[in-house]
Amino acid sequence: MFHANQPPNFSDPRAHFAREIVETLRSRGFDALWAGGCVRDQLLGKTPKDYDVATNARPEQIRGVFGRRRTLLVGAAFGVVTVLPHQPSLGQVEVATFRRDGNYTDGRHPDQVSFSDPREDAQRRDFTINGIFYDPIEKRVIDYVGGEEDLGRRVIRCIGDPHQRFDEDKLRMIRAVRFATTLGFEIEPETRQAIQQRADEVRVVSAERIAAEMRRTLVHENSAAGLSEIRQLELWRQVLPEYANEVSSTRDQHWMSLIHLFEHLDSGWSFPTALAALLWPLAHQRNAEQSVAQLTERWKLANVESKDAHWLLTHVTTILHAQRIAWPTLQSVLIDPRVGELLRLTRAIIRTTQGPHANMDALQYCEERLAWPAAQLNPAPLLNGNDLRTVGIPAGPELGRLLTAVRHAQLDGLLDDRETALAWVARQRSDDRGES
Ligand code: ATP
Ligand code: MG
Repeated sequence: MFHANQPPNFSDPRAHFAREIVETLRSRGFDALWAGGCVRDQLLGKTPKDYDVATNARPEQIRGVFGRRRTLLVGAAFGVVTVLPHQPSLGQVEVATFRRDGNYTDGRHPDQVSFSDPREDAQRRDFTINGIFYDPIEKRVIDYVGGEEDLGRRVIRCIGDPHQRFDEDKLRMIRAVRFATTLGFEIEPETRQAIQQRADEVRVVSAERIAAEMRRTLVHENSAAGLSEIRQLELWRQVLPEYANEVSSTRDQHWMSLIHLFEHLDSGWSFPTALAALLWPLAHQRNAEQSVAQLTERWKLANVESKDAHWLLTHVTTILHAQRIAWPTLQSVLIDPRVGELLRLTRAIIRTTQGPHANMDALQYCEERLAWPAAQLNPAPLLNGNDLRTVGIPAGPELGRLLTAVRHAQLDGLLDDRETALAWVARQRSDDRGES
């Protein structure tokens, strides 16, 4: 049996607030319990991301108890009300009415829900470890689904018949991988088998819901294991169709590099780095821009995420060839705020392609330069656009070209004060004129 039954940490003010909500509901004659992820995380000794309360109060009654100003009706049909704290730092708590889900005819949502009791509410949840309740007043676990035992065994197991549960909501297959990855748990054999057989059905799920689960999986330090599961469970055709347009032997190679690449990333990487890593094994056969555009479109990524992923993919080769690249070109990459992520990605790529005796000279070269004093790494420009206009160069493409050229000459150490820079610009102009 599982004994890591940690008392909740009420010094966490969010836990305190979530307990108050239970107390308030009970003082008005309702039943209320903590439910779902917060119970799981607390039993594992982890700090819950947020707290959820389940109750027999109906949405209107919940709003009556806490007042309209302190509540938001988020999913009236599902009986979910957000209760806002007096101070924003306490986090919001979602209070949901115990419910039973009706039929799922579309494989995504229940056709209707009806309000019910805790036992039935546990049955509609996805995995046993997510179906446990906790009474924060009596400090007691209420477990109708064997979730505590599965926490102890470290397994992800569907509540009820896995085929039926995945038939109802196909996203649960991706969630199984997300929880297995982030908790470091195994997916239990019957649940695994059902996923393997039904993986193609994930196609009815919106790519955005898939993306939300994949985002959690891909930034976790255990993501290599998650990707390996995506492959073994045959989910990859739906999740990463980028890898589908290949003959199987090439595909196997690409998958191995993908998994190794994530194994070799130093922890703490950003989501854009994960995106760039996802696409890197395909980089020699697909143009970076197209690859990123396709993923951006499918997963509805934020503009900045897709820009960053594209920048990272484009500049890996800049780092790989650092010693042979003109300093002004390398410098413009090294002074970019994303350079830390770029070095992290490039380091993992070198480790993946070269193994344990990898040659890190290029990375070291960059790191040495990054350690330079700011005035050397990125000296203030000797001239700006205004300076050039003052000496009679009209705004336009010529001015832009000259500004870049004078900056490069400065970085190359050819110029070190304003006067020589202005003289240099004048010479360039007369040379240009002479040529044309
Ligand atoms: P996290 O801490 O990562 O948010 P969580 O368990 O809270 O994990 P959520 O996606 O926030 O995950 O869902 C909250 C709870 O709602 C789950 O613990 C589970 O009981 C239930 N749940 C969520 N999505 C589903 C689903 N697709 N099918 C069945 N139950 C679900
Ligand atoms: Mg949650």
